[in-house]
Amino acid sequence: MWNPETQITELKYIGTAYVKKLNRLGIETVKDLLWHFPMRYEDFSEYSPIAEIKQGQKVSILGKIVSIKNQRTWKHRLILTNAEIEDETGVIKTIWYNQPFLIKTLKEGLNISLSGNVKLDKYGLYLQNPSYEIISQISQDSSFPRPYANGGADKIQVSRLKHTGRLVPIYPETERLSSRYLRFLIKPLLNKIGPIPEWLPSLILKKHNLPAIRKALVQIHFPNSEEETKSAKKRFAFEELFLFQLKALQERKRLKTSSASIISFNKQLIKEFVGSLPYKLTNAQRIALWEIIQDLNKPHPMNRLLNGDVGSGKTIVAAAAALEVAKTNYQVAYLAPTEILSHQHFITFKNVLKNFNLTLAVVTGSGAKVFEDGLEYEIKKPRLIERLAKGEIHIVIGTHALIQKSINFKDLALVIIDEQHRFGVKQRAELLKKGYENRIPHLLSMTATPIPRTLALALYGDLDLSVLNEMPKGRQKIKTELVGINQREKAYEFIRNHIKIGRQVFVICPRIDVKRIDSNNQQPTINYQSKPLRQLSLKESETLEKKAVVTEYEKLSKNIFPDLKVAMLHGKMRPKEKGTIMQQFKNKEFDILVATSVIEVGIDIPNATVMAIEGAEYFGLAQLHQFRGRVGRGEYQSHCLLFIESPMVATTRRLSALLKYDDGFRLAEMDLKIRGPGEFLGSEQSGIPDLVMSSLTDLELIKKTRNEAKLILESGIEKYPRIEQKLTEFSQTIHLE
Ligand code: ADP
Ligand code: MG
Repeated sequence: MWNPETQITELKYIGTAYVKKLNRLGIETVKDLLWHFPMRYEDFSEYSPIAEIKQGQKVSILGKIVSIKNQRTWKHRLILTNAEIEDETGVIKTIWYNQPFLIKTLKEGLNISLSGNVKLDKYGLYLQNPSYEIISQISQDSSFPRPYANGGADKIQVSRLKHTGRLVPIYPETERLSSRYLRFLIKPLLNKIGPIPEWLPSLILKKHNLPAIRKALVQIHFPNSEEETKSAKKRFAFEELFLFQLKALQERKRLKTSSASIISFNKQLIKEFVGSLPYKLTNAQRIALWEIIQDLNKPHPMNRLLNGDVGSGKTIVAAAAALEVAKTNYQVAYLAPTEILSHQHFITFKNVLKNFNLTLAVVTGSGAKVFEDGLEYEIKKPRLIERLAKGEIHIVIGTHALIQKSINFKDLALVIIDEQHRFGVKQRAELLKKGYENRIPHLLSMTATPIPRTLALALYGDLDLSVLNEMPKGRQKIKTELVGINQREKAYEFIRNHIKIGRQVFVICPRIDVKRIDSNNQQPTINYQSKPLRQLSLKESETLEKKAVVTEYEKLSKNIFPDLKVAMLHGKMRPKEKGTIMQQFKNKEFDILVATSVIEVGIDIPNATVMAIEGAEYFGLAQLHQFRGRVGRGEYQSHCLLFIESPMVATTRRLSALLKYDDGFRLAEMDLKIRGPGEFLGSEQSGIPDLVMSSLTDLELIKKTRNEAKLILESGIEKYPRIEQKLTEFSQTIHLE
């Protein structure tokens, strides 16, 4: 018998080539396979007599194969497999594309169950690329199939089907593993696996009406009804949220009982700083700063997230906090995701802190610099490390280079993390370990991804939240337009005109990997961004990203703008190379910069006035809004062009929200409703399955799980060894980075 720990290599029905593919998805045991959830279901539960089938229907039929043969179409270079299926009421034609091998298994005379879409051509109705299952192999009983005589298929028999006649699970099809193959793998496991340990207390299951684990697994893969999928999803969502909340509450408690350096509020200093700025702080900035100052004044470590739209002015709030800490003679570390951003922040800090007599430094993979007594100079890393350890440097800004073991502080009291979702939990933890003796540094994380409150609570139950929901005065609105396929010429002309008068242009393209045909509906669907890519390694996704950028770069530089200076930027380049290109772009040595979504979140290039986004439909609204925020940083009117590839009405409708609104939080709420929470933060690393992700919008469920987590912690988690163990596993999976 198989149990959850059985290695998939022991399952005789999986070939070695497939084992490798599965391994690449992180699937090594039966358990991993069972926890590889479908992303959606195709509802083929409706069986119909052939005579009653209508065009456009999504239907299942049961019948006998009357004839089947392959045919080559010269025009489209396709191989068609044509079959005729007959039941007591009539005959229907069936067509499969490019699957000539089907005739080896689908033989004349066999009973078959088919599910697919009904189309009409000049010869009549036909089933297009239906999913199939040979019935004779399922049941020797000749009275089956007889689905419609009593108005519905025989329930027991249907529950034995995998590919047709039911709610059919559709899995994320990465690594060329088809849903059909995954169904073939998973179905027998569900029947033959031994006990699966239940870890949720039965009291909780009962109270919240959740199915036990085994039932939930059957229902999530092969549900017999919508209700079953719902109930199974609820159970898994509950699990994850519950663990999440347990972890968050534990973390919060840990911080509340740890000590940190107290930074007393220095009113005079803050006043002087704010007065020295060339602008007035917005109200939102003031409130956020005040919240931070109060946190710093406590003997326990701060753990605060500063959430504010692109351009809402987070850096200056961070600078004020850093100033207070540095002036109390403690040290500050400011972690930024890229070299370019590190240098940009260093310049900002030099600027706004120049009158405060502090020593600043910046350290990245390619070197280090110090700013001291009004002078800036390069410094060798060993020397920097020495000076940091002696406490001679007050504020150090840098990339991952800051996290190195060799870097230590005399007395680090504040860690600031910019674009915090770009870092793993482990990296954060590494930096926080660098505190003095047993004091933990205060932590200020920042993000420009507007997170709706509900989600923040779910994902960051352990954080306090400050929100910059107000833009500095006098920002001009960026004119945003949708560009359909046949408006491209005009858009390129528009871009050219801007370059003629000396402006510059960003072009962003999505990290498309494979275009694939979903066998059931023939709609080309594209894997993009957060979902299937989540299962790719960083390296793989960088390769795909590079491909997208290079293709776009070739197109623009060779075909469309051969006379202009085009450059490109992608994740495969060395940081130094990226830095050089960015610097050159800033110096106006290029007119157009082609990049991917992940590049340089907070970069400031005032002369760039056009942001063109290719395949805009593959991004979330909040993310598009963030790209848009990279232009309009100077005095010129700026524009955002959203190129769309598909003529879908729904796409246009969704994207047109960007034409109407420029409030990132509002757009994020819309995203959350339309696309679910996958967009937001760290999903690539969180390991939360999509199905569960979609429940993160469920405020009720979040509250319930939070309550249960509280109760468990109050009565002592050590009384629940299974929960404890699960929590340990959970912590490991969400900290995979
Ligand atoms: P983000 O929140 O995206 O990190 P930044 O901190 O980079 O935004 O700020 C964007 C720009 O806005 C900077 O050039 C900064 O100097 C400017 N800025 C910040 N606060 C204000 C303010 N209150 N009034 C005017 N400009 C401001
Ligand atoms: Mg920023």
